[in-house]
Formats: sequence, structure tokens, C-alpha cells
Amino acid sequence: MIEPPRSDMFDDVYFSAHDGAAETKHVFFDGNNLPERWQGGGGFTIAECGFGTGLNFLLAWKLFDETAPKGAILDYISIEKYPLSVDEIRNGLSPWADVLNPYLDKMLSQYPMRVPGFHRIVFDGRVALTLIFDDVNAALPEITANVDAWFLDGFTPSKNPDMWSESVFNHMARLSHGGTTFATFTAAGFVKRGLQAVGFHVVKQQGFAHKRDMLVGVFKGDKKNNVPSNKKSILIHGAGLAGCAAAYVLKQYGFNPVIYDPNGLASGASGNELGLINPRFTAHRGEVSDFYTAAFALAMRVFSNINDVDYAMRGSIHLINDEDKKKRFTQTIENWAWHKDHMQYLSMRNASDVLGIAINHDALYLPQSAHISPAKLCAFYTKDIDFVNTKDGDYDVHILAKGYGSVHDDYFKDISVHTVRGQITKIKTTNESQNIKTNICYGGYISAPQNGWHIVGSTFQKWLDDTNRNIEDDNANLEKLSVQIPQLTEFEILDGRASLRTSANDRFPVIGVMGGDNVFSSTAHGSHGIISSLMGAHLLADIIRGGVFCLGKSTVCALSPQRFQNRKKVK
Ligand code: SAM
Repeated sequence: MIEPPRSDMFDDVYFSAHDGAAETKHVFFDGNNLPERWQGGGGFTIAECGFGTGLNFLLAWKLFDETAPKGAILDYISIEKYPLSVDEIRNGLSPWADVLNPYLDKMLSQYPMRVPGFHRIVFDGRVALTLIFDDVNAALPEITANVDAWFLDGFTPSKNPDMWSESVFNHMARLSHGGTTFATFTAAGFVKRGLQAVGFHVVKQQGFAHKRDMLVGVFKGDKKNNVPSNKKSILIHGAGLAGCAAAYVLKQYGFNPVIYDPNGLASGASGNELGLINPRFTAHRGEVSDFYTAAFALAMRVFSNINDVDYAMRGSIHLINDEDKKKRFTQTIENWAWHKDHMQYLSMRNASDVLGIAINHDALYLPQSAHISPAKLCAFYTKDIDFVNTKDGDYDVHILAKGYGSVHDDYFKDISVHTVRGQITKIKTTNESQNIKTNICYGGYISAPQNGWHIVGSTFQKWLDDTNRNIEDDNANLEKLSVQIPQLTEFEILDGRASLRTSANDRFPVIGVMGGDNVFSSTAHGSHGIISSLMGAHLLADIIRGGVFCLGKSTVCALSPQRFQNRKKVK
């Protein structure tokens, strides 16, 4: 007997004290007839209620790796309201460390920040984990998927009724098709009746170890008819962050995309030497915050595992330099509900300590925030991608990722996208500035020192569309900086760069199907393109491959190119 991890809140264990791994096999794998079910190839989707330590996930991944046909992809959705920390998981699974590795180490190196919402992690191009940190009753209605097998693994129903609610059963039915199965360790009568009521044929089977019974079942309904394919040929128009990220991600899912861009790699705003990585803050939780939260967490995971992109997790301090910001950021902290490891309110004194120089304001602090070279990131994304020099040719799918090139594109005639000129200024570090430990944002921003310089940004000029660098804009950037951090006054300008960002009139990216089912867009990434382009790339890949969506339904809808038309209709 091994002492399994225990939840004080629910007064229950995460898995059987007899043998957690054997329980997973008996209840969830045998109960859903795995691995036989995925022998047909293509895609297979498991959805689990209760991620816990990830034991079920890790064993499913291992089993899939060992038994599924080549080229098959496992989509694994799991919902967890109270995410454990990396250390808690490592401790809880230590008895199985040998059996579970290398999967456990890989999972923990990519384990998401504990922030609410959707988290997509692709392992070895073979397993796509969609881990949703939220209450199951809030998460399930947001899922887009074709589930083949359910693992119902909440705590004992009498102690954890939320996990076994009517709404859970209804959404299970919505996400199931004829032949979808479920398995669970419990044989509680109301669970059995609830699942029968929504269309499952339910059978009692012998339970694991001392448990007499458990439940398994099959959904009675129409068979699923979409056959996902990664054979499609894809042309990506545009070699900025949006296009390069799309190519990188599609390649992970087994596609072979090519890129066309007459201006070459990262010629526009994506060609900057350094960019800060931050979400766009909102006071309330909604589609915008869900998108940027997911995108931020995704980017942090991916970037911290790659090299040669000048990635540095220096943290960012966001000065609370007016009353409006104070109110807004206080609401952000409360409503976004990020774990305090990831977002904190700092007093002026604490902010000064973290920053390394004295400042006159309280601050919002994101310890995991970072900077990176967008230009090098584009190069990294495309190191295994072919570029073509004509857009003629026969392609199954086109992805429009042309940044400011979208503004005059016919496809975008009903979509209000415009450019916003931004100039950044590179300055030499000074005696004062070399002590700065984090990136600082104050309306403008200054990056933490690196190799003897900082980037100070950025102008925000909707009315200009030239990309000539001018000295007035450099001065404007530096003046704004001196106002906020008065110790910084003498600057030696080393360089600067102006480019055009693209933005939609509602300041949200445009990601999704443009027309028919073969033209897609990923554009209007504004000032947050480093993170939103990668998130957008996963969403496009999901739509194209017919897989589980990496974002909630409401967010997907808010990003969709159709939103502008829909708003007109409503008016
Ligand atoms: N499958 C897990 C594993 O492999 O370690 C064990 C899951 S444990 C029995 C039940 C899980 O459900 C816990 O991690 C718990 O935090 C989670 N949970 C409880 N109530 C929830 C709710 N309302 N929404 C989402 N997750 C919940």
C-alpha cells in the first residue's frame, strides 16, 4: 500500500491506496476499452473531469505512445478547479516516477501557470493536452470537441457533488457521439440515473480493489462523421509573427505548411530586436482576459523551453501612476484570479525593492513576464519551414497573416482593421538604469538592461503610416520615461526602428475562418502579437485538423472574423 496524495478540502484521496496506476488501468482504460479503440488511427479524444496529479493523463499518454498507430494524435482534455503545484505533483507521483518517466518530467517542464482557463500543451507532436483550470460546470459549456472516451474522476460523489451535476451530464451528451464511452470508479445511483437520462447505456462492472462496483457506458446517438486530416497542403501568406507561428504550430500537428512573403522574414513590426511579453489587462474576466491569459501562459511555457531567441524572464512592473489604473488593476487582480505566484499588487516600497531603483508608485507585478527577440523568434519558428516565391499553386488551405497587408486586402473589406505606427528607441544603459532588474511599463515601457542597452517604447500613431525613423519620436519615448522614472534623464541613443502594427477597431485579433472553409486569418495582433500570434496559431491548427479547440467557445467567437458582420446584423 502506498499513501496516496489526499485533499483536505474534500477529505478524500486522489487515487486508490492499493495501487493508483493499476486503478487507472482497471477503471479508465479497461472501462473504455483502450487501447483497442484507437487502433484505427487518426485522432482519438479523451475528456477527463479532475486532472489532479495527472496520473491518468500520464498513463494514457504512455499507453498511446506504446500502442497507437504512427501519425495518430491523442487529444486529452482535462478539467481541474484546484490545480496542484509542480512540487505537489512530483511528490504525489514519486512512487511511480520510474514507470512514468520520461512523461512525468516532460509534463512538469511544461506544466501551466496556475491561472484560470484553457492551457494547450503539445507533447512530441503526438499528444495535445487541453488542461482547463476552472470549475467543471463553467468549463464544459466552453469546450468544442468530439469526445470518444470520458474519464469521470471527481472525488467521491457524496463529497464532491459539483463534479457529478446534471449540467455535467448534459454537456457530456453534447460532446459525445454514437459509440462514445465513459468509465468511472463510482457506482452511485444518481450518477447512473443522470447518465442514463442524457442518453448513455450504463452498465455496472466489478470495481477496483475493495470497491464492489463501478460504472461504464456507451452513448446512443449518431456516429461521428468528420475525419480529421493532416494531409492538407497549406500556404501561409505572411512571414511575420502570425505567419511564422502558424507554420511552427501546424508542423507540430503533422502538416507541411509553406510560407509566401515578398518582403522576406519578419520585415514589419515582427522584426524588432526586443519585445516585452505581457497580457493586455482588463478590469473584468471575459473573452479578452481569457484569451490573453491563455496566450500569456502558453507563450511562457513555449519560450522558456527554446533557445537562441534572447528570451529572459525578468518579470514586469506595471506602474500604477493614476487613480484610474489603481482601480482597474485592483479589479484585474481580483477578477482574473491568477495565483499569487503569477500576479501581485506591490506597494511603492516593495515595487522599488523588486525593481532595484526607487519609484514613486505602487505597481502590478508579473514575476513570469519576460522579453524576447521577435525577429529571432520568427527565425526559430521557421527553421524547418519552406518559403515559396509565388502564391500561385494549388493549396487546400490559405492562411492570411499579412499584418498591415490586410488593410487593403479584399478579404478584409468588411472587417475594420487599421495600422498603428510604433517607433522604439534603443539606448545605452546608464549608471542608474543598469540597476533595473525587471521590465517596466507605464504607458510606455523600458526593458531590463541586457548587453549594455535597453529598448524604450513605443509611440502609438494611428494617423501615420510611414516607417521612417525620426528623432522626434525617439525624444518623445525618452521624455515619457523621464517623467515616470525621474532618475533616468541622460540618454545616449543607439538606434531606433519604426514599424506598423495592425489592429482591429475593437482591439482584438482576427483569428478564424474567413470564407468558405479554406481561407483563414490570423491578424490584428496589435501590441501583443508575440503572445497572441502563438495562441492564434494553435486555434487555426485545431480548426484545420478538426481537433479539440484550445480556447473556450466564447473566446473563439469573440476572435472570429465574422464578429464584425454579426454586429452589423444586430444593429
Ligand atoms: N485524475 C486525477 C489523477 O490522475 O490524479 C485524480 C482526480 S481527484 C480524484 C479529483 C479532482 O477533481 C481533484 O483534483 C479536485 O481538485 C478536482 N475537482 C473537485 N471539484 C471540482 C470542480 N467543481 N471542478 C473541477 N475540478 C474539481
